[in-house]
Amino acid sequence: MSAKNPHHDKSRRNFLKTLGLGAAALSVAGAAAPALSVGEALAATAAPGPMPRRMLGKTGVEVPALALGGMFDTINNQLLLRQALNWGVTYWDTAEYYGRGQSEEGFGRFFAKNPDRRKEVFLVTKLTPREGLDTFPDRFEKSLARLSTSYVDLFFVHGIDSMSPLTPRVRAWAADMKKAGKMRYFGFSTHSNMEELLQAAAKEGGPAANLDVIMFTYNIHVMHKPAMQAAVDACAKAGIGLVAMKTQGMGPATNPSEAELKVAEQFLKRGFTEKQARLKAVWENKNIASICSQMPSIAILGANVAAARDKTALSAAETGSLYALACAEAGGYCAGCASICQNATNGLPVREVMRGLMYQRGYSEPGLGQGLFAELPADMRQRLATADYSRAEAVCPHKLEIAKLMREAGETLA
Ligand code: SF4
Repeated sequence: MSAKNPHHDKSRRNFLKTLGLGAAALSVAGAAAPALSVGEALAATAAPGPMPRRMLGKTGVEVPALALGGMFDTINNQLLLRQALNWGVTYWDTAEYYGRGQSEEGFGRFFAKNPDRRKEVFLVTKLTPREGLDTFPDRFEKSLARLSTSYVDLFFVHGIDSMSPLTPRVRAWAADMKKAGKMRYFGFSTHSNMEELLQAAAKEGGPAANLDVIMFTYNIHVMHKPAMQAAVDACAKAGIGLVAMKTQGMGPATNPSEAELKVAEQFLKRGFTEKQARLKAVWENKNIASICSQMPSIAILGANVAAARDKTALSAAETGSLYALACAEAGGYCAGCASICQNATNGLPVREVMRGLMYQRGYSEPGLGQGLFAELPADMRQRLATADYSRAEAVCPHKLEIAKLMREAGETLA
């Protein structure tokens, strides 16, 4: 619909009104919970239509356009899990790493109490390769036990930044798990060096090489990059299912930029929150099957469900505003091109520390940020504090103030 269509304007205003959103709700669809009542958020059921579904690569499975990221207290949010299902959010994502198994446990409690609902859910879990790939078989069985299920629909090797963890042995194990009916599909998730990894997976042949699905960072900061566009297209061509995460594009910067506040105001006038518009921008790429979003409150869940159900496409002018916002915020966003700053600092994990800051500041999850920082070897943390970052700052495509941010990380994440 055109921006000049009065019906369009009205329906958008209704869409916003339905959610009871106002200027105070700018953080809806982000991580910090806004001051919405549960009743207001429940009004999202009035948003028109069912949850849209999309085909997940060549798996033959249709998944909802919105997936529930489980990096929150799922044990004490059982009602939220039920509500997610009732609103059609039937793709649930968790990991051993989230809350050291507690996120899986929360999902497991739900299935133990509601065994008939397990078959409605497309269930995903992940294991990080850091503890050693030989530990996968044992840890995977423990994940299944915590999840109170005999199988997961999708398993990801969690958060890789190169293809090296996908050894022939790991792939053979995954193939065995598929044969045993404990895992339906296999793939990996990545926050770093995404374009290279997506291209490598596509080159291998995707499903033909037992790589069915990839979850990766995708948002207004990276979607316009030609290398990212080519990588997404290559995966789609190879039949790899694609799931987007970190779609709000939070960076290690502390506060919303002036540009963000300006764009947010524009979207509110048009009937969206800017956070909902960021989701819509991702859904506009039909190669993205689903957005995996952390939704730790009914308010955020309701806002995101309403955004998914709303059929209005962004106008060219609105897409342009988001692109302009991405350009304006470039200096506050870390794009995950880890190999660039790693090579310029003799191997320092700058990207990992940036992620820690992002969780602490953008997602108001200081524990996660501190956890990532604490996992770095002590000598690495020491080197981070004293390193010379001038070369890294010179080559960083987002011109981040790396030295300042590393110093702040040392002070606030340690
Ligand atoms: S700090 Fe800069 S070079 Fe390093 S991953 Fe982030 S954006 Fe890329």
